[in-house]
Amino acid sequence: MEHNCPLNKIQLGYHTWNLLHTLVANYPHEPSPQKQEDVNQFFKLLGRLYPCQACGRDFSHLLTLRPPVTTSQNTLSQWLCSIHNDVNQKIGKSFFDCNKVNERWRDGWNDGSCD
Ligand SMILES: Cc1cc2nc3c(=O)[nH]c(=O)nc-3n(C[C@H](O)[C@H](O)[C@H](O)COP(=O)(O)OP(=O)(O)OC[C@H]3O[C@@H](n4cnc5c(N)ncnc54)[C@H](O)[C@@H]3O)c2cc1C
Repeated sequence: MEHNCPLNKIQLGYHTWNLLHTLVANYPHEPSPQKQEDVNQFFKLLGRLYPCQACGRDFSHLLTLRPPVTTSQNTLSQWLCSIHNDVNQKIGKSFFDCNKVNERWRDGWNDGSCD
């Protein structure tokens, strides 16, 4: 990546997914109703404001078909993983194994390589 240059679609996407998965990795196991409402609003607004118009429009459409499952960290991380896989599929990227989502984004790999 060039230093101090505007992001292209790929860079923007990569950094946004990093934020989204990390946010969800730190979501409470037992979220309050307010927290659940906040996260719903956050994803709705992300779709509306995302600075790649076609990406945001398709993301908003996905949200209407499959709204965030906000009841726990586990349900929300599985939901986001499956939504990310939908985007992966749309643009010809590989499928990510959602059984490994907390290893990748919360706990680090079981082989200790992140320790
Ligand atoms: C909301 C949104 C919508 C987008 N829509 C489009 C679009 O319509 N067209 C387009 O060309 N690009 C789109 N992008 C960008 C695209 O998804 C990628 O971010 C970009 O192509 C860079 O891909 P990457 O290979 O670096 O990995 P990314 O897809 O950015 O993933 C980053 C890292 O997340 C991990 N990962 C991959 N899949 C999953 C998963 N399912 N669950 C958990 N972790 C995973 C991997 O470790 C990967 O290295 C969108 C991005 C976002 C955030």
